Amino acid sequence: MNHNDSRRKFIKLAGVGVGASMLGASNLMAKPIDVKDVKFDEEYDVVVIGTGFAGLAAAAKAAEKGLSVLVIEKMGRVGGNSTINGGGMAVPNNPIQKERNIKDSKEIFIKDCLKAGLGINHVELLETIVDRAADSVSFAEKCGAKFQHELSWFGGHSVPRTIVTENNSGSGIIIPMSKYVEENEKCKLYKRTKFDEFVLDEAGRVVGIKARVEYRFDSKLFNDDKENKSGEVKYFGAKKGVVLASGGFGMDKFYRKLQDPRIPDDMDSTNHPGATAGAMAKAFEIGACPVQVDWIQFGPWASPDERGFGVAPILTQQGLFKYGMAVDVKTGKRFMNELADRKTRADAEFVILRKDPKANPVAIGTQNTFGPEIKNVIQKGLDSGVMKKYNTLDEVAIAYKIPAAALKESVKKYNDGVKAGKDEFGKPVEQFKGECINESGPFYCIRLTPKPHHTMGGVKINTKAQVISMDTQEPIPGLYAAGEVTGGTHGASRLGSVAITDCLVFGMIAGENI
Ligand code: ADP
Repeated sequence: MNHNDSRRKFIKLAGVGVGASMLGASNLMAKPIDVKDVKFDEEYDVVVIGTGFAGLAAAAKAAEKGLSVLVIEKMGRVGGNSTINGGGMAVPNNPIQKERNIKDSKEIFIKDCLKAGLGINHVELLETIVDRAADSVSFAEKCGAKFQHELSWFGGHSVPRTIVTENNSGSGIIIPMSKYVEENEKCKLYKRTKFDEFVLDEAGRVVGIKARVEYRFDSKLFNDDKENKSGEVKYFGAKKGVVLASGGFGMDKFYRKLQDPRIPDDMDSTNHPGATAGAMAKAFEIGACPVQVDWIQFGPWASPDERGFGVAPILTQQGLFKYGMAVDVKTGKRFMNELADRKTRADAEFVILRKDPKANPVAIGTQNTFGPEIKNVIQKGLDSGVMKKYNTLDEVAIAYKIPAAALKESVKKYNDGVKAGKDEFGKPVEQFKGECINESGPFYCIRLTPKPHHTMGGVKINTKAQVISMDTQEPIPGLYAAGEVTGGTHGASRLGSVAITDCLVFGMIAGENI
């Protein structure tokens, strides 16, 4: 097949096959722009779409090679979802584990990911993550990120392997990394600049983008704010290629409901308002393989008592869920392994909430459950009111209308299990060295609700971060992708703290290979 045939086939696929059945939101008449019809306003070696971990890592690496780079961000600030999370980064086989005699390996990490991902993960991508995890930490540090010398134990990981930024936030990486990028004279970073279309040459190679500068995102508009006409059109050439690092679609009310009709428009999410599907759909239009787009992960550690990500996820997943427990307020009983993977826990919470949407389960723990790595977050939770402190279990029972006797019995049963090294829900209590709930209190509590958090699916990439074409099953020339916009790595459900590693590793790889 010659190149022109191949390209015609791309367009046909975009308009009929992929468009009709999988994109939903896409414009069936949309076509990529032909470079013959375009005069570029500015030309670079590389154009990167998105300023999260993935985009910034790609830009930094490409610039270090001496390439000229334009990074664009549609929002008024950088960092997307990358800047609003707990800053936990899974690093299998890390030096702190070795210091503490915690045995870890590539195999154990991949086994953990496959268990959470229901076995449908693309294993070669997981292998790449492990192989480059230590490098990605060094690179983040080179850019100015600082990590605590502590380990967190995130649910679904069979051992503690997560390091955490000094400020318990992804911003601890994003702020220095965006500075690193902006200080490099080979790089430009334009905020309020939205990618709209790919520009292709006659061979089907991605050679640039159509974008809008001075764009004003309007979160009140539906689905990728399609009616938003703000901004001035500009064409940016990308001689070596484009890196798509536009993140996930946890805030795209249309697209997320299309994939999972259980997500009503008014359901809060942990994501930033710009987490929409538009840029990913444009990659599908030029033939990128869609992978597992309907697996949307709910964070089981979020709280209805704050908007967005907030602080509850840090205080639960790195605190109350560790040596504490979660109870069904109606029965006073536990109902899950609080250190299971996210899907297992969110599913268990949904069973309760579907019976009574107001009966939010409550996470309960004592001071010993908060590791030193999150000590600065405890007061934030108490100050905002998302976490409450009570002196006795009777007070906890009154506050949440939990049957008091059953609650006390559950705490005792759980503690007995920890001491015996055996838990009724399979929590790995045998590794707790007897750490359990301190029955004399005080008790810290957070109400729970699962919120859409990470969208597992996206475009298919290979281990070189090249986007794979439906048509040729080969890389689409000139198109790379990294981060949450890619699919397959995490299968049905991503393990907590693997996203930062994933985004940095594949962002770096995109920048190195382009
Ligand atoms: P990741 O974790 O994969 O790096 P993030 O959500 O942190 O993803 O970052 C993705 C960034 O891409 C966000 O800041 C988002 O606003 C930006 N983005 C999404 N779509 C576009 C677009 N069409 N044009 C420019 N930037 C975009």
